Amino acid sequence: MSGKAETVLADAAGIARAAGILRAGGLVALPTETVYGLAARADSAEAVARIYRAKGRPCFNPLIVHVAGLEEAERLAHFSTAARAVAQAAWPGPLTLVLPRREGSALAAAVTAGLPTVALRAPAHPVMQAVLAACAVALAAPSANRSTQVSPTSAAHVEQALGGAVDLILDGGPCERGIESTILAVRENGAWEMLRPGPVDADALHRRLRGSPLPPPPRRLVTVEAPGQLALHYSPGKPVRLAAQAPEPGEYMIGFGDITGDCTLSAGGNLVEAAAQLYACLHRAAASKSPRIAIAPVPDGEIGAAINDRLRRAASSDR
Ligand code: AMP
Ligand code: MG
Repeated sequence: MSGKAETVLADAAGIARAAGILRAGGLVALPTETVYGLAARADSAEAVARIYRAKGRPCFNPLIVHVAGLEEAERLAHFSTAARAVAQAAWPGPLTLVLPRREGSALAAAVTAGLPTVALRAPAHPVMQAVLAACAVALAAPSANRSTQVSPTSAAHVEQALGGAVDLILDGGPCERGIESTILAVRENGAWEMLRPGPVDADALHRRLRGSPLPPPPRRLVTVEAPGQLALHYSPGKPVRLAAQAPEPGEYMIGFGDITGDCTLSAGGNLVEAAAQLYACLHRAAASKSPRIAIAPVPDGEIGAAINDRLRRAASSDR
């Protein structure tokens, strides 16, 4: 990507500038608690088209719409009683709800890639919240990386990936969670379907609100509904070997727990810390001279399932 974007601190002046650019139809990269997002106003077809162009994202892959809270979300989608209870329990936070889109709502058609559903999230990050409040408009914001590549968890990652394709980068420091939101579809009959694992434990939420475990995902292809589930995603651009106990010659080692590496996800074996470090380690591995990457095994419990979901895709050679 040619050119260099201007990066400013996410202080009051930076937030006001970002809001002005967004209101005028521009593109701003900004921090959320999950990863950095590439935001544009969700009601403008031109602004949304710029997101797809900047990312090189296929037009059939819909975007997450970020809102200030439930009230704004209900103007864009139909909430069943079950969906409202989930939103009240998890928002603001790293949970995206896929719901039936409200007819005539102020959303550009490209945001949902023509689907009758819309993905909505009320983020918890104070910078994103302040920008949403200052804009007073819903913001479409996928991760601020080129399509299929590793997600950004710092302003520097965004600058490397997108550079001059964005009007402004707001630097709010590293992202606390470091991994994309959990995506949950809540159907009109009240049934839940997990579309992407993430920081919010959807099974625990289902047990708490509905008194039973989250049902297993249906055995069908969901690629049309959620193209983000395609195998090639989060790719560092080099071969990746999973569950490695030690590096082989030519491998950049990403460690976990007792297995140390050139970069370590969490020396103490803490999965929350590992999620926060995951993309920074993958970016370092991608930028290193080593032609290949090896990654230590990460246990599957709690947010480990979301980490392993991302690692499997990072290691995928499917196209
Ligand atoms: P990202 O680009 O990292 O923000 O990821 C956005 C994810 O949300 C992708 O996996 C999309 O496929 C998914 N998504 C967005 N809108 C919908 C929708 N209406 N139905 C299902 N998945 C969606
Ligand atoms: Mg993404």
